[in-house]
Amino acid sequence: MKQVTRRTLLVLLPVAILALGVLFFLAEYVLHGAAWAAFSANDTTHAQGRLTAGQILDRSGQVLYDAESGSYAEDWITRIATLHAVGDGSGNIGTAARSQYAQRMVGFSPITGAHGKGNKLYLTIDAEVCETAYSLLAGHKGVVGIYNYETGDILCMVSAPSFDPAWPPEIRDGDSAYEGVYLNRLLSATFTPGSVFKTVTTAAALEKLDGVAERTFTCEGSYRIGDDVITCPHVHGQQTLRDAFANSCNCVYAALAMELGGRTLRSYADKAGLLSSMDVSGVATASGSFTVGESYELGWSGVGQYNDLVNPCAMVVLMGAIARDGTPVLPRVLYRETGSLGLPHIVPSADTGSAVFRRDTCRTLREMLRNNVEAGYGQSHFGDLAICAKSGTAEVEPGKAPHAWFNGFLDDPEHPLAFVVLVENGGSGATVAGNIASQVLQKAVERMDGN
Ligand SMILES: [Zn+2]
Repeated sequence: MKQVTRRTLLVLLPVAILALGVLFFLAEYVLHGAAWAAFSANDTTHAQGRLTAGQILDRSGQVLYDAESGSYAEDWITRIATLHAVGDGSGNIGTAARSQYAQRMVGFSPITGAHGKGNKLYLTIDAEVCETAYSLLAGHKGVVGIYNYETGDILCMVSAPSFDPAWPPEIRDGDSAYEGVYLNRLLSATFTPGSVFKTVTTAAALEKLDGVAERTFTCEGSYRIGDDVITCPHVHGQQTLRDAFANSCNCVYAALAMELGGRTLRSYADKAGLLSSMDVSGVATASGSFTVGESYELGWSGVGQYNDLVNPCAMVVLMGAIARDGTPVLPRVLYRETGSLGLPHIVPSADTGSAVFRRDTCRTLREMLRNNVEAGYGQSHFGDLAICAKSGTAEVEPGKAPHAWFNGFLDDPEHPLAFVVLVENGGSGATVAGNIASQVLQKAVERMDGN
Protein backbone atom coordinates (compact mmCIF):
# COMPACT_ATOMS: atom_id res chain seq x y z
CA MET A 1 0.00 0.00 0.00
CA LYS A 2 2.84 2.32 0.95
CA GLN A 3 4.49 1.64 -2.40
CA VAL A 4 1.29 2.49 -4.30
CA THR A 5 1.04 5.85 -2.54
CA ARG A 6 4.67 6.61 -3.38
CA ARG A 7 4.10 5.74 -7.05
CA THR A 8 0.95 7.86 -7.21
CA LEU A 9 2.91 10.76 -5.78
CA LEU A 10 5.67 10.25 -8.33
CA VAL A 11 3.11 10.54 -11.13
CA LEU A 12 1.12 13.41 -9.61
CA LEU A 13 4.09 15.60 -8.78
CA PRO A 14 5.13 16.32 -12.40
CA VAL A 15 1.45 16.87 -13.31
CA ALA A 16 1.14 19.40 -10.47
CA ILE A 17 4.34 21.17 -11.57
CA LEU A 18 3.09 21.30 -15.16
CA ALA A 19 -0.29 22.68 -14.03
CA LEU A 20 1.43 25.37 -11.96
CA GLY A 21 3.61 26.26 -14.93
CA VAL A 22 0.60 26.64 -17.21
CA LEU A 23 -1.18 28.77 -14.59
CA PHE A 24 1.90 30.96 -14.25
CA PHE A 25 2.16 31.36 -18.02
CA LEU A 26 -1.54 32.27 -18.31
CA ALA A 27 -1.27 34.83 -15.52
CA GLU A 28 1.81 36.38 -17.14
CA TYR A 29 0.05 36.38 -20.53
CA VAL A 30 -3.05 38.16 -19.21
CA LEU A 31 -1.05 40.60 -17.05
CA HIS A 32 1.76 41.42 -19.46
CA GLY A 33 0.50 40.33 -22.91
CA ALA A 34 -0.35 43.89 -23.91
CA ALA A 35 3.17 45.04 -23.03
CA TRP A 36 4.72 42.18 -25.07
CA ALA A 37 2.46 43.01 -28.02
CA ALA A 38 3.50 46.68 -27.83
CA PHE A 39 7.19 45.79 -27.47
CA SER A 40 9.13 47.15 -30.43
CA ALA A 41 10.76 43.78 -31.30
CA ASN A 42 7.34 42.20 -31.92
CA ASP A 43 7.02 41.74 -35.70
CA THR A 44 3.21 41.39 -35.68
CA THR A 45 2.74 44.96 -34.46
CA HIS A 46 5.99 46.60 -35.55
CA ALA A 47 8.06 47.33 -38.64
CA GLN A 48 11.65 48.56 -38.16
CA GLY A 49 10.87 49.24 -34.50
CA ARG A 50 7.85 51.44 -35.30
CA LEU A 51 4.39 50.49 -34.03
CA THR A 52 2.16 49.69 -37.03
CA ALA A 53 -1.18 49.20 -35.32
CA GLY A 54 -3.76 51.75 -34.21
CA GLN A 55 -4.82 55.31 -34.89
CA ILE A 56 -4.91 58.52 -32.86
CA LEU A 57 -7.85 60.82 -33.55
CA ASP A 58 -9.23 64.04 -32.10
CA ARG A 59 -12.61 64.11 -30.34
CA SER A 60 -14.48 64.71 -33.61
CA GLY A 61 -12.82 61.77 -35.37
CA GLN A 62 -10.17 63.60 -37.38
CA VAL A 63 -7.19 61.25 -37.81
CA LEU A 64 -4.09 62.81 -36.26
CA TYR A 65 -1.80 59.79 -36.67
CA ASP A 66 -2.20 56.49 -38.49
CA ALA A 67 0.29 53.91 -37.24
CA GLU A 68 -0.10 51.46 -40.13
CA SER A 69 1.03 53.99 -42.74
CA GLY A 70 3.08 56.03 -40.24
CA SER A 71 1.35 59.19 -41.47
CA TYR A 72 0.05 62.24 -39.63
CA ALA A 73 -2.81 64.68 -40.32
CA GLU A 74 -2.86 66.16 -43.82
CA ASP A 75 -2.39 69.84 -42.90
CA TRP A 76 0.92 70.95 -41.44
CA ILE A 77 -0.82 73.32 -39.00
CA THR A 78 -2.79 70.37 -37.54
CA ARG A 79 0.40 68.35 -37.19
CA ILE A 80 2.31 71.17 -35.47
CA ALA A 81 -0.57 72.23 -33.21
CA THR A 82 -1.22 68.67 -31.97
CA LEU A 83 2.43 67.51 -31.76
CA HIS A 84 2.58 67.51 -27.95
CA ALA A 85 -0.69 65.58 -27.68
CA VAL A 86 0.10 63.04 -30.41
CA GLY A 87 3.88 62.63 -30.21
CA ASP A 88 6.81 62.32 -32.59
CA GLY A 89 8.55 59.44 -34.34
CA SER A 90 11.55 59.36 -32.03
CA GLY A 91 9.44 59.18 -28.89
CA ASN A 92 11.06 62.33 -27.51
CA ILE A 93 7.72 63.59 -26.20
CA GLY A 94 7.23 60.93 -23.56
CA THR A 95 3.92 62.35 -22.30
CA ALA A 96 2.27 62.17 -25.76
CA ALA A 97 -0.28 59.56 -26.87
CA ARG A 98 2.11 57.63 -29.14
CA SER A 99 4.35 56.90 -26.14
CA GLN A 100 1.74 56.73 -23.39
CA TYR A 101 -0.91 54.64 -25.12
CA ALA A 102 1.12 52.27 -27.34
CA GLN A 103 -0.48 49.28 -25.61
CA ARG A 104 -3.98 50.63 -26.15
CA MET A 105 -3.18 51.29 -29.83
CA VAL A 106 -2.05 47.69 -30.34
CA GLY A 107 -5.43 46.56 -29.06
CA PHE A 108 -4.15 43.40 -27.39
CA SER A 109 -6.81 41.06 -25.98
CA PRO A 110 -5.96 37.94 -23.93
CA ILE A 111 -8.55 35.99 -26.02
CA THR A 112 -7.63 37.06 -29.56
CA GLY A 113 -4.08 38.31 -29.00
CA ALA A 114 -2.87 41.28 -31.06
CA HIS A 115 -4.90 41.75 -34.21
CA GLY A 116 -3.35 43.58 -37.14
CA LYS A 117 -5.30 46.84 -37.33
CA GLY A 118 -5.13 47.91 -33.71
CA ASN A 119 -7.48 50.28 -31.91
CA LYS A 120 -8.73 53.78 -32.58
CA LEU A 121 -7.84 56.14 -29.79
CA TYR A 122 -9.84 59.37 -29.62
CA LEU A 123 -8.26 62.18 -27.61
CA THR A 124 -10.37 64.83 -25.87
CA ILE A 125 -8.68 67.61 -27.86
CA ASP A 126 -10.36 69.45 -30.71
CA ALA A 127 -7.78 69.82 -33.49
CA GLU A 128 -9.38 72.98 -34.89
CA VAL A 129 -9.26 74.74 -31.52
CA CYS A 130 -5.60 73.68 -31.14
CA GLU A 131 -4.80 75.08 -34.61
CA THR A 132 -6.37 78.43 -33.70
CA ALA A 133 -4.38 78.53 -30.45
CA TYR A 134 -1.08 77.67 -32.14
CA SER A 135 -1.59 80.34 -34.83
CA LEU A 136 -2.40 82.97 -32.20
CA LEU A 137 0.82 82.29 -30.28
CA ALA A 138 2.40 83.66 -33.47
CA GLY A 139 5.87 82.23 -33.01
CA HIS A 140 6.11 82.96 -29.28
CA LYS A 141 6.96 80.23 -26.82
CA GLY A 142 4.03 79.51 -24.55
CA VAL A 143 1.00 77.40 -23.79
CA VAL A 144 -2.75 77.47 -24.36
CA GLY A 145 -4.94 75.12 -22.34
CA ILE A 146 -8.73 74.86 -22.26
CA TYR A 147 -10.74 72.21 -20.45
CA ASN A 148 -14.40 71.50 -19.82
CA TYR A 149 -14.72 71.87 -16.05
CA GLU A 150 -17.81 69.63 -15.91
CA THR A 151 -16.50 66.66 -17.94
CA GLY A 152 -12.74 67.12 -17.41
CA ASP A 153 -12.07 66.94 -21.19
CA ILE A 154 -9.03 68.93 -22.29
CA LEU A 155 -10.14 70.57 -25.55
CA CYS A 156 -6.99 72.52 -26.25
CA MET A 157 -3.45 71.53 -25.27
CA VAL A 158 -0.95 73.52 -27.29
CA SER A 159 2.73 74.06 -26.52
CA ALA A 160 5.17 76.21 -28.44
CA PRO A 161 7.81 75.86 -29.76
CA SER A 162 6.67 72.91 -31.80
CA PHE A 163 7.65 71.27 -35.09
CA ASP A 164 6.15 69.25 -37.91
CA PRO A 165 6.51 65.57 -36.91
CA ALA A 166 6.17 64.54 -40.57
CA TRP A 167 9.38 66.50 -41.33
CA PRO A 168 11.25 66.69 -38.03
CA PRO A 169 13.98 69.33 -38.09
CA GLU A 170 17.53 68.71 -36.93
CA ILE A 171 17.59 70.23 -33.45
CA ARG A 172 21.03 71.05 -32.03
CA ASP A 173 21.72 71.25 -28.29
CA GLY A 174 21.34 74.79 -27.03
CA ASP A 175 19.31 76.02 -30.04
CA SER A 176 17.19 78.67 -28.30
CA ALA A 177 14.48 78.56 -31.00
CA TYR A 178 13.70 74.99 -29.89
CA GLU A 179 14.21 75.47 -26.14
CA GLY A 180 12.03 72.94 -24.30
CA VAL A 181 10.48 71.76 -27.58
CA TYR A 182 9.84 68.21 -26.31
CA LEU A 183 8.07 69.51 -23.21
CA ASN A 184 4.30 69.58 -23.05
CA ARG A 185 4.17 72.94 -21.29
CA LEU A 186 0.58 72.48 -20.14
CA LEU A 187 1.29 69.25 -18.26
CA SER A 188 5.01 69.15 -17.59
CA ALA A 189 6.32 72.70 -17.06
CA THR A 190 6.21 75.21 -14.20
CA PHE A 191 6.43 78.99 -14.46
CA THR A 192 6.50 82.09 -12.24
CA PRO A 193 2.80 82.98 -11.92
CA GLY A 194 3.02 86.71 -11.23
CA SER A 195 -0.39 88.24 -10.59
CA VAL A 196 -2.48 85.18 -11.50
CA PHE A 197 -1.36 83.97 -8.05
CA LYS A 198 -3.36 86.84 -6.50
CA THR A 199 -6.43 84.60 -6.86
CA VAL A 200 -4.88 82.34 -4.20
CA THR A 201 -3.86 85.25 -1.94
CA THR A 202 -7.43 86.61 -2.25
CA ALA A 203 -8.92 83.25 -1.22
CA ALA A 204 -6.63 83.11 1.83
CA ALA A 205 -7.57 86.69 2.78
CA LEU A 206 -11.32 86.00 2.41
CA GLU A 207 -11.11 82.91 4.63
CA LYS A 208 -8.54 84.01 7.20
CA LEU A 209 -8.95 87.78 7.67
CA ASP A 210 -12.32 88.64 9.22
CA GLY A 211 -14.20 91.42 7.44
CA VAL A 212 -11.50 91.80 4.76
CA ALA A 213 -14.10 92.34 2.02
CA GLU A 214 -15.40 95.43 3.87
CA ARG A 215 -12.00 96.99 4.54
CA THR A 216 -10.45 99.91 2.66
CA PHE A 217 -6.80 99.78 1.61
CA THR A 218 -4.59 102.62 0.46
CA CYS A 219 -1.96 102.28 -2.28
CA GLU A 220 0.62 105.04 -2.48
CA GLY A 221 2.37 103.45 -5.45
CA SER A 222 5.02 101.76 -3.32
CA TYR A 223 5.14 99.64 -0.17
CA ARG A 224 8.28 99.36 1.89
CA ILE A 225 9.18 96.10 3.67
CA GLY A 226 12.59 96.14 5.36
CA ASP A 227 15.17 97.22 2.79
CA ASP A 228 13.01 96.48 -0.22
CA VAL A 229 10.22 98.36 -1.93
CA ILE A 230 7.33 96.70 -3.70
CA THR A 231 5.86 98.97 -6.36
CA CYS A 232 2.75 99.48 -8.46
CA PRO A 233 2.83 101.04 -11.96
CA HIS A 234 0.96 104.03 -10.49
CA VAL A 235 -0.76 105.19 -7.29
CA HIS A 236 -4.01 103.23 -6.92
CA GLY A 237 -5.22 105.24 -3.92
CA GLN A 238 -8.12 104.01 -1.79
CA GLN A 239 -9.48 100.61 -2.72
CA THR A 240 -11.60 97.74 -1.45
CA LEU A 241 -10.23 94.19 -1.83
CA ARG A 242 -12.38 93.86 -4.96
CA ASP A 243 -10.83 97.02 -6.45
CA ALA A 244 -7.30 95.93 -5.49
CA PHE A 245 -7.86 92.58 -7.27
CA ALA A 246 -9.17 94.35 -10.40
CA ASN A 247 -6.27 96.86 -10.26
CA SER A 248 -3.85 94.00 -9.50
CA CYS A 249 -2.38 96.27 -6.82
CA ASN A 250 1.00 94.89 -5.70
CA CYS A 251 1.10 97.12 -2.60
CA VAL A 252 -2.19 95.78 -1.19
CA TYR A 253 -1.30 92.17 -2.02
CA ALA A 254 2.15 92.44 -0.45
CA ALA A 255 0.50 93.89 2.70
CA LEU A 256 -2.05 91.05 2.71
CA ALA A 257 0.76 88.49 2.42
CA MET A 258 2.52 90.05 5.45
CA GLU A 259 -0.73 89.95 7.42
CA LEU A 260 -1.53 86.35 6.45
CA GLY A 261 1.99 85.00 7.00
CA GLY A 262 3.98 82.62 4.81
CA ARG A 263 2.64 79.40 6.28
CA THR A 264 -0.98 80.36 5.67
CA LEU A 265 -0.21 81.44 2.10
CA ARG A 266 1.61 78.19 1.49
CA SER A 267 -1.33 76.18 2.84
CA TYR A 268 -3.65 78.02 0.41
CA ALA A 269 -1.32 77.33 -2.53
CA ASP A 270 -1.55 73.70 -1.44
CA LYS A 271 -5.37 73.74 -1.04
CA ALA A 272 -5.56 75.32 -4.51
CA GLY A 273 -3.88 72.18 -5.86
CA LEU A 274 -0.80 74.08 -7.01
CA LEU A 275 1.79 72.14 -4.99
CA SER A 276 0.87 68.61 -6.01
CA SER A 277 0.87 66.54 -9.17
CA MET A 278 -2.32 65.41 -10.93
CA ASP A 279 -2.92 62.31 -13.02
CA VAL A 280 -4.13 63.25 -16.51
CA SER A 281 -5.07 59.95 -18.22
CA GLY A 282 -1.89 58.34 -16.93
CA VAL A 283 0.42 61.35 -17.23
CA ALA A 284 1.58 62.94 -13.97
CA THR A 285 1.64 66.74 -14.16
CA ALA A 286 4.51 68.81 -12.78
CA SER A 287 3.90 70.14 -9.28
CA GLY A 288 4.50 73.78 -8.41
CA SER A 289 6.32 75.21 -5.40
CA PHE A 290 5.94 77.90 -2.79
CA THR A 291 8.76 78.91 -0.47
CA VAL A 292 7.78 80.40 2.88
CA GLY A 293 9.84 83.60 2.85
CA GLU A 294 10.54 86.29 5.44
CA SER A 295 10.04 90.04 5.20
CA TYR A 296 9.98 91.36 1.62
CA GLU A 297 10.34 87.83 0.20
CA LEU A 298 6.99 87.04 1.79
CA GLY A 299 5.54 90.24 0.31
CA TRP A 300 6.74 89.26 -3.17
CA SER A 301 5.43 85.72 -2.80
CA GLY A 302 1.93 87.15 -2.17
CA VAL A 303 2.02 88.81 -5.58
CA GLY A 304 3.20 85.62 -7.28
CA GLN A 305 6.90 86.47 -7.55
CA TYR A 306 9.83 85.40 -5.31
CA ASN A 307 10.18 81.59 -5.66
CA ASP A 308 6.55 80.84 -6.57
CA LEU A 309 6.17 78.36 -9.44
CA VAL A 310 2.95 76.96 -10.87
CA ASN A 311 2.00 74.38 -13.48
CA PRO A 312 -0.38 75.80 -16.14
CA CYS A 313 -2.70 72.79 -16.02
CA ALA A 314 -3.11 73.22 -12.25
CA MET A 315 -4.12 76.86 -12.87
CA VAL A 316 -6.83 75.72 -15.33
CA VAL A 317 -8.19 73.17 -12.88
CA LEU A 318 -8.17 75.74 -10.04
CA MET A 319 -10.34 78.05 -12.17
CA GLY A 320 -12.68 75.14 -12.99
CA ALA A 321 -12.97 74.41 -9.26
CA ILE A 322 -13.88 78.04 -8.49
CA ALA A 323 -16.55 77.88 -11.24
CA ARG A 324 -17.98 74.74 -9.56
CA ASP A 325 -18.12 76.23 -6.04
CA GLY A 326 -14.90 74.51 -4.98
CA THR A 327 -14.81 70.91 -6.21
CA PRO A 328 -12.62 70.37 -9.29
CA VAL A 329 -13.23 67.78 -11.98
CA LEU A 330 -9.80 66.37 -12.81
CA PRO A 331 -8.71 66.71 -16.44
CA ARG A 332 -8.32 63.87 -18.94
CA VAL A 333 -7.02 63.51 -22.51
CA LEU A 334 -8.30 60.05 -23.38
CA TYR A 335 -11.81 60.42 -24.76
CA ARG A 336 -12.89 57.19 -26.46
CA GLU A 337 -11.39 53.93 -27.71
CA THR A 338 -12.80 51.49 -30.24
CA GLY A 339 -11.55 48.04 -31.24
CA SER A 340 -11.17 46.48 -34.70
CA LEU A 341 -14.92 45.85 -35.03
CA GLY A 342 -15.76 49.40 -33.97
CA LEU A 343 -16.88 48.25 -30.54
CA PRO A 344 -16.18 50.71 -27.74
CA HIS A 345 -13.69 49.84 -25.00
CA ILE A 346 -13.82 51.21 -21.49
CA VAL A 347 -12.00 54.52 -21.01
CA PRO A 348 -11.84 55.93 -17.48
CA SER A 349 -14.17 58.87 -16.87
CA ALA A 350 -12.92 61.93 -15.00
CA ASP A 351 -12.72 61.91 -11.19
CA THR A 352 -13.37 64.81 -8.89
CA GLY A 353 -10.63 66.18 -6.63
CA SER A 354 -10.89 67.59 -3.13
CA ALA A 355 -12.45 71.03 -2.66
CA VAL A 356 -10.05 73.95 -3.07
CA PHE A 357 -11.73 76.71 -1.03
CA ARG A 358 -15.06 77.20 0.80
CA ARG A 359 -18.21 77.54 -1.31
CA ASP A 360 -18.82 81.17 -0.24
CA THR A 361 -15.17 82.00 -1.01
CA CYS A 362 -15.55 80.56 -4.51
CA ARG A 363 -18.73 82.57 -5.10
CA THR A 364 -17.03 85.79 -4.00
CA LEU A 365 -14.01 84.97 -6.18
CA ARG A 366 -16.27 84.30 -9.16
CA GLU A 367 -17.89 87.71 -8.76
CA MET A 368 -14.47 89.37 -8.36
CA LEU A 369 -13.06 87.58 -11.44
CA ARG A 370 -16.08 88.77 -13.41
CA ASN A 371 -15.57 92.30 -12.10
CA ASN A 372 -11.95 92.20 -13.34
CA VAL A 373 -13.29 91.88 -16.89
CA GLU A 374 -16.08 94.44 -16.52
CA ALA A 375 -14.13 97.08 -14.60
CA GLY A 376 -10.62 96.36 -15.90
CA TYR A 377 -9.95 94.45 -19.12
CA GLY A 378 -13.21 95.48 -20.81
CA GLN A 379 -16.01 93.13 -21.92
CA SER A 380 -15.76 94.56 -25.46
CA HIS A 381 -12.54 92.56 -25.98
CA PHE A 382 -14.38 89.28 -25.32
CA GLY A 383 -17.50 89.43 -27.51
CA ASP A 384 -20.40 87.94 -25.58
CA LEU A 385 -18.32 85.45 -23.57
CA ALA A 386 -19.34 85.39 -19.87
CA ILE A 387 -15.67 85.50 -18.98
CA CYS A 388 -14.25 85.65 -15.43
CA ALA A 389 -10.48 86.09 -15.38
CA LYS A 390 -7.24 87.29 -13.83
CA SER A 391 -4.28 88.50 -15.84
CA GLY A 392 -0.65 88.25 -14.83
CA THR A 393 2.51 89.93 -16.04
CA ALA A 394 5.26 87.91 -14.39
CA GLU A 395 8.78 89.33 -14.13
CA VAL A 396 11.22 86.56 -15.01
CA GLU A 397 14.62 87.83 -16.12
CA PRO A 398 16.09 91.32 -15.95
CA GLY A 399 16.19 92.88 -19.40
CA LYS A 400 13.62 90.46 -20.84
CA ALA A 401 9.90 91.07 -21.37
CA PRO A 402 7.72 89.53 -18.65
CA HIS A 403 5.58 86.40 -19.16
CA ALA A 404 2.01 87.27 -20.09
CA TRP A 405 -0.72 85.24 -18.37
CA PHE A 406 -4.48 85.11 -18.68
CA ASN A 407 -6.34 82.59 -16.54
CA GLY A 408 -10.05 82.09 -15.88
CA PHE A 409 -13.30 80.45 -16.91
CA LEU A 410 -16.63 81.04 -18.63
CA ASP A 411 -19.54 81.39 -16.21
CA ASP A 412 -21.80 79.69 -18.74
CA PRO A 413 -23.50 76.30 -18.14
CA GLU A 414 -23.70 75.69 -21.91
CA HIS A 415 -19.94 76.22 -22.30
CA PRO A 416 -18.28 75.28 -19.00
CA LEU A 417 -14.72 76.06 -20.06
CA ALA A 418 -11.73 77.00 -17.91
CA PHE A 419 -8.54 78.19 -19.55
CA VAL A 420 -4.97 79.37 -19.28
CA VAL A 421 -2.89 81.31 -21.77
CA LEU A 422 0.78 81.95 -21.13
CA VAL A 423 3.00 83.78 -23.61
CA GLU A 424 6.64 83.56 -22.54
CA ASN A 425 8.29 86.99 -22.61
CA GLY A 426 5.08 88.19 -24.26
CA GLY A 427 4.59 91.45 -22.31
CA SER A 428 1.28 92.53 -20.81
CA GLY A 429 -0.94 89.70 -19.57
CA ALA A 430 -4.28 91.41 -20.09
CA THR A 431 -3.48 92.64 -23.59
CA VAL A 432 -1.34 89.90 -25.17
CA ALA A 433 -2.59 86.76 -23.41
CA GLY A 434 -6.12 88.17 -22.95
CA ASN A 435 -6.49 88.68 -26.70
CA ILE A 436 -5.40 85.11 -27.45
CA ALA A 437 -7.76 83.74 -24.78
CA SER A 438 -10.68 85.66 -26.25
CA GLN A 439 -10.18 84.33 -29.78
CA VAL A 440 -9.45 80.72 -28.79
CA LEU A 441 -12.44 80.62 -26.45
CA GLN A 442 -14.74 81.99 -29.15
CA LYS A 443 -13.48 79.22 -31.45
CA ALA A 444 -14.02 76.60 -28.71
CA VAL A 445 -17.58 77.83 -28.08
CA GLU A 446 -18.29 77.72 -31.83
CA ARG A 447 -17.02 74.14 -32.01
CA MET A 448 -19.08 73.09 -28.98
CA ASP A 449 -22.17 74.54 -30.68
CA GLY A 450 -21.39 72.38 -33.71
CA ASN A 451 -20.36 75.18 -36.09
ZN1 LIG B 1 -1.28 99.70 -6.07
